Amino acid sequence: MAEYDAVIVGAGIFGLATAYHVKKLKPYDKILLVDMMGAAGQGNTAKSAAMFRCFFNSRTNLTLVDTSVEFYRYVHEKLGTDLKLRWTGYLWLFSEQDYRDVEPVLKGMAEQSLEYKIFDEKELAEKLEMTTCVTADEEAQMMGLEDANIGVLVPKAGSVDIDELVKFYEAEFKKMGGETRYNTRVESITVDPETSLGMPSEPYFWQNPRASGVKTSKGFIKAKKTIVAAGAWASTILDQVGIDAPMKPIKRQLFSVRANTEDLKHLLYAKGFTKENCMPFTILPKPRVYIKPALEEDSFWFSYGDHFPRAFKLEDDPQPEENFYKYGLYQVATKYFPQFMGCQPNGAWAGQYVLNTLDSQPVIFEENNVIVVGSCSGSGNMKGDAVGRIAAALYAGQEYALLYGDKQFKVSDLGLKKRNVEPEKLII
Ligand SMILES: Cc1cc2nc3c(=O)[nH]c(=O)nc-3n(C[C@H](O)[C@H](O)[C@H](O)COP(=O)(O)OP(=O)(O)OC[C@H]3O[C@@H](n4cnc5c(N)ncnc54)[C@H](O)[C@@H]3O)c2cc1C
Repeated sequence: MAEYDAVIVGAGIFGLATAYHVKKLKPYDKILLVDMMGAAGQGNTAKSAAMFRCFFNSRTNLTLVDTSVEFYRYVHEKLGTDLKLRWTGYLWLFSEQDYRDVEPVLKGMAEQSLEYKIFDEKELAEKLEMTTCVTADEEAQMMGLEDANIGVLVPKAGSVDIDELVKFYEAEFKKMGGETRYNTRVESITVDPETSLGMPSEPYFWQNPRASGVKTSKGFIKAKKTIVAAGAWASTILDQVGIDAPMKPIKRQLFSVRANTEDLKHLLYAKGFTKENCMPFTILPKPRVYIKPALEEDSFWFSYGDHFPRAFKLEDDPQPEENFYKYGLYQVATKYFPQFMGCQPNGAWAGQYVLNTLDSQPVIFEENNVIVVGSCSGSGNMKGDAVGRIAAALYAGQEYALLYGDKQFKVSDLGLKKRNVEPEKLII
């Protein structure tokens, strides 16, 4: 049986970026990328809203996102791969009180040259034709909604076409000699003793057991290193060999509403925010329902990241819940944007975030020849390139990864034993 230097389980954004950067660092290594689905990027990567923002208070967050987005910009502008980058901006809406709470953090960020712009109530009402004072409405009061007194617009933010990004990484990985195998489900990680003595049921605990590849639905694959980038499914493989990682799958759903009236078209192409001349990605005051301008399909996407009592549960094919839109997103959004009154979604889908409930950052570590890359916590696409580089550096035995723009990142900072991530203060 041919032996690979590494088998990577999972061709989502993390597996693909890892595969690409491993090949860049180790061009002669034999690398195989496997996925149980029929093509790359069909897991939660395909379910994403594909938004990014280079605006965080935590150095860890900012470095991972900013270097990744700059790499995507480079691919888009310099390598000529159209990633359909759109700089729509993010617009957070705040009540007076909530803005006061977050203002010191924002000011600290401005001192670090992170750009944002403030819009007052009047400007918001004018530009977005929205209702900013919702607390005058009895139903809104009952729902505990808050007024949108202030808008904070972050210009270095927008969307990327995730399918194009997936295609880019896959094509480049293959060009460098990387191999892919789809429709191949990894059932388990195989484990061998460091030195076999030919005893029954090896390895025993004193034989220094090491991962030696994977058992798949289509046979065994031998590899010196097994890299698990299996997203929400990772624990099903890792638990079998006693490797623990903070990874809690939770359902997230998106609903698409077509801009099929003049009022909605006006809103979608609202002027005065960014050069894209559209409504920014808008996050309502509380609860933080978000609305994405999906310009390529003349639509808006609605979502909300709910927690208690939403279960942590792995679902192979999670379904959107009609009532989540009908009694949740719709009720909240129409209080601020009456333009959506009567709108039914023309499409809906659900996927899963994989939460690191300890610090919301990715985890990248190695144990017994198994490298684990995961826990995207809802921001895997915007951090994808940096995560791939850090995982590749770990594979290559480097202490530091070189992120795009020649930024160094200590590999162990995202590990479990010497973890060192800066907490995020901009919690909005
Ligand atoms: C609704 C929604 C909206 C989101 N919006 C955003 C956003 O706006 N911005 C952002 O940055 N992120 C967003 N995310 C998060 C983002 O999509 C994820 O962080 C990212 O896609 C995770 O990538 P991954 O490679 O870890 O996982 P996945 O893309 O799920 O890849 C894992 C792969 O592993 C494969 N696999 C699993 N088990 C096995 C096995 N046993 N054998 C073989 N193959 C296996 C799967 O088939 C899958 O292809 C969103 C997620 C959801 C669900």
